[in-house]
Amino acid sequence: MTTVNGLFTCADGVGASGHKFSSGSHAEGRIVGKQMVRWCVDHKDYKPSIKETADELKKLIYRPYYNYVEGKSASTDGVVNPNYISPKNFMMRLIKCTDEYGGGIGTYYTTSDALLATGFNLLKMLEEDSLKLAARDLHELLRCWENYHRLWTVRLHMQHIDFRQESRYPGFYYRADFMGLDDSKWKCFVNSKYDVKGKKTDIFKKPYHQIIPD
Ligand SMILES: Cc1cc2nc3c(=O)[nH]c(=O)nc-3n(C[C@H](O)[C@H](O)[C@H](O)COP(=O)(O)OP(=O)(O)OC[C@H]3O[C@@H](n4cnc5c(N)ncnc54)[C@H](O)[C@@H]3O)c2cc1C
Repeated sequence: MTTVNGLFTCADGVGASGHKFSSGSHAEGRIVGKQMVRWCVDHKDYKPSIKETADELKKLIYRPYYNYVEGKSASTDGVVNPNYISPKNFMMRLIKCTDEYGGGIGTYYTTSDALLATGFNLLKMLEEDSLKLAARDLHELLRCWENYHRLWTVRLHMQHIDFRQESRYPGFYYRADFMGLDDSKWKCFVNSKYDVKGKKTDIFKKPYHQIIPD
């Protein structure tokens, strides 16, 4: 279960790791499926509640459309506008940042403390601009939110890469400043939890327990 009560995920849904496989995803799916059923049986009376009103949620979800309507007259081109950013332009910025600074193909999957710091700085500006995402239609509204969520998942993945000071997953990414494995410190999982009120991500180690002996 995630830190949201009653919300389960597994495999690629967990994210923030350079190392996801179909066999592990299948095993996690079986484990989580059983846990979900158990949780539902044990919490029959649970009713999820949302703190925002329906009107507040509507304003939030349709914000990219309102951005478009309010800003569109500043330019004759629908996607070049000083008041907003289109989902495609946002996607290009996100890809460029993560490719060059987060261990993408542009650097042969290699990154480092210094590259990641620059990447986080660019993502900070991108997060500011995410409030200005604009949608011209329902399709672009979906793309806006998809890109917003990609920003969060990609950044979290980079934070995990930053935390793990070794190259455990060669082929997926390399830390140029920490080449090679360091089992003495890093034979463990890296997990994280976002503090909504403090707006801070806490990243920590979780022990690895070998169930099947070598
Ligand atoms: C290019 C690439 C190469 C890979 N190569 C390998 C490899 O060689 N070996 C290996 O072991 N692993 C490989 N992987 C990783 C592996 O494929 C994934 O880790 C694994 O498939 C993840 O399984 P999953 O069930 O978490 O997600 P997925 O398999 O992505 O399943 C999620 C499903 O949810 C569906 N879905 C999404 N939104 C909704 C919605 N709103 N409503 C209903 N359904 C929805 C999607 O259509 C999808 O079918 C590769 C991955 C990629 C991208």
